[in-house]
Amino acid sequence: MKIAFFSTKPYDKDFFEKHNQTHELTFYDVALSEISVRLTEGFDGICVFVNDKVNASVIEKLAKLGIKLIALRCAGFNNVDLEAAHKSNIVIVRVPAYSPHAVAEHAVALIMALNRKTHKAYNRVREGNFSLEKLIGFDLYHKTVGVIGTGKIGDAFARIMQGFGCKVVAYDIFPNQSLIDSGVKYTSLDEVLQQSDIISLHCPLTDKTLHLINETSIVQMKTGTMLINTSRGALIDTQAVVEGLKSKKLGYLGLDVYEQESNIFFNDLSEEILVDDTLARLMTFPNVLITSHQGFLTEEALTQIAIITLNNITAFEKGQKSGNEVEL
Ligand code: NAD
Repeated sequence: MKIAFFSTKPYDKDFFEKHNQTHELTFYDVALSEISVRLTEGFDGICVFVNDKVNASVIEKLAKLGIKLIALRCAGFNNVDLEAAHKSNIVIVRVPAYSPHAVAEHAVALIMALNRKTHKAYNRVREGNFSLEKLIGFDLYHKTVGVIGTGKIGDAFARIMQGFGCKVVAYDIFPNQSLIDSGVKYTSLDEVLQQSDIISLHCPLTDKTLHLINETSIVQMKTGTMLINTSRGALIDTQAVVEGLKSKKLGYLGLDVYEQESNIFFNDLSEEILVDDTLARLMTFPNVLITSHQGFLTEEALTQIAIITLNNITAFEKGQKSGNEVEL
């Protein structure tokens, strides 16, 4: 099949070309949008990532241009208008699991860096400053870690935190029996918010989870709570979190995702003026650590993303089901 890739970086091209045998792949670095959609003329399908706009108007244009398949090279599909795709007879496939460990381990990396301030120590030592002032952290051992969403990534994350000797409490609409067997205690969302020293978000972004962390939920947290989000930016009402940091209710914030990340994350803007005042404000806090959506960025995850996406495309071409179709 002839597939147009959007929002591609050199590593996408490397991993996909390494594993591709049968399809004709064209890599565009621009994101899919109402304007760039015209680049899909002459293609059978497209491959998109987390911040590509796959709304109703783009889908209508894709259908007119003869696109039959949208292959997401990610797990989340909150950026796709499923109803519009269904109406246009365009099939959506995704990569439901590639390496849950990649994202779970990145959440732990944020916790460790925020707690022990390794990012600050690294810079200090490089400048010849060997002082330990203001580098005091806390033992993770025996702390309570709240996991919201215990699917593949939340499961991997909970088990790592158990390895540190943490007590893990969790909230999910579908509790995971093997985690219960391992000692994780499921409880209500309110209790997770109230009991945890560290809260990590691992649920998908849906109408129900939009701004799950907001002014009301922050009020319930312990003073000094560490909040980690490696899932989707809009799980958090960012302005409420800024207020929570200012009032010191939130003691630490680790973000790999941000509600307004599209057009910012994945790009080198070091010579540009940052126009997002909320992100700029977040970057001023000494207890905030932001990475630009790199949870998935491991050799293992990129390999699996390429192999599974290419298999999804091949299955569609053969009129078969890959099992990775996103249904309405
Ligand atoms: P998953 O589908 O395996 O697990 C999601 C879990 O969330 C499920 O157990 C589900 O029951 C639960 N859930 C759904 N709605 C809920 C609600 N209202 N309240 C509480 N729990 C709810 O997904 P996963 O593979 O573990 O991925 C989780 C999320 O991580 C994805 O949706 C995606 O947004 C994000 N993600 C981020 C990166 C990154 O690079 N930072 C990479 C991959 C995935």
